[in-house]
Amino acid sequence: MERFDRFMAGANAAYYANQDFAADFVTAPELTQVFGELLGAWAKTVWEMMGAPADIILAEAGPGSGALMADALRAWAAPRVHFIETSPRLRAAQAKRVPHAVWHASLATLPEAPLILLANEFLDALPVRQFIRREAGWMERWVKAGVYAEFPAEYTLPDDPVGSVREINEAALDFCEELARRDAVGLFLDYGPMHSAIGSSVQAISHGKFADPLGEPGTADVTAHVDFEAIALHCNAQGPVKQNAFLTSLGLFQRTEYLALRNPARAFALRQAAERLTAPEAMGSLFKAMVLCPKGFPTLPGFE
Ligand code: SAH
Repeated sequence: MERFDRFMAGANAAYYANQDFAADFVTAPELTQVFGELLGAWAKTVWEMMGAPADIILAEAGPGSGALMADALRAWAAPRVHFIETSPRLRAAQAKRVPHAVWHASLATLPEAPLILLANEFLDALPVRQFIRREAGWMERWVKAGVYAEFPAEYTLPDDPVGSVREINEAALDFCEELARRDAVGLFLDYGPMHSAIGSSVQAISHGKFADPLGEPGTADVTAHVDFEAIALHCNAQGPVKQNAFLTSLGLFQRTEYLALRNPARAFALRQAAERLTAPEAMGSLFKAMVLCPKGFPTLPGFE
């Protein structure tokens, strides 16, 4: 028997160690090179706003195939590149695209230096604790032999109606607090609501279809919506803004057209990807961008 968040952590570690996530769901950097290029140019501007420190580290959490960073580095050849990645299989894929990167299992071992961190669809993979309100009070969800079990919660939670579910992503909060302690600038793109919401957002995806989150651990990607508002309560943030507003203001369509006109064979795919990233019914609206930065930092590009 395990607490739900520990079950989710184990399931995802097994999933990313063994499965090809690109076969199960499509992410922005896999759709178009423009996504990573815009983020690289964004990071360069942020670095200049920091006063262009020579020892800057450009880091990425959960770099997947390494495509985002490879594209970003064409826009800004950052001198030091660090990856936070736990999957040995994905580390090997990333090494093919960004051979000079330095790998870490967590933020803790990153050198203390000026830091810009990018993370696309990373926080949603971190484990959440789940609580359900019963007559007698709040209970926490555990997993026992493939089904949910409940034990009295040690957390103090708001007095929601009986049957309400709440999620707390302690791992995401810890990650963000460590970034804040380092005075880093961290850009997160992920799906979640503008404001904290009650209800279960845990879902599992396998081969592009919804699966049972409590099914065989390691066969599906288990995610939860990112509670941006809760993170922004703990750490100084700009945003969240909708992904379509963010990417459009960074020049998604201009860069796409530039490439499309020069590569007629790829024009259709490039334009289709830009559309998919911004259409409200696709990835434009549910996905948000939020940036953590030191207090008093000027307004960052895309967050005007
Ligand atoms: N950013 C990529 C991949 C998203 S999938 C893209 O957009 O395509 C989530 C990524 O986070 C994978 O690389 C996965 O191995 C990594 N990951 C998941 N949980 C992690 C953890 N606890 N610590 C470090 N990396 C993790």
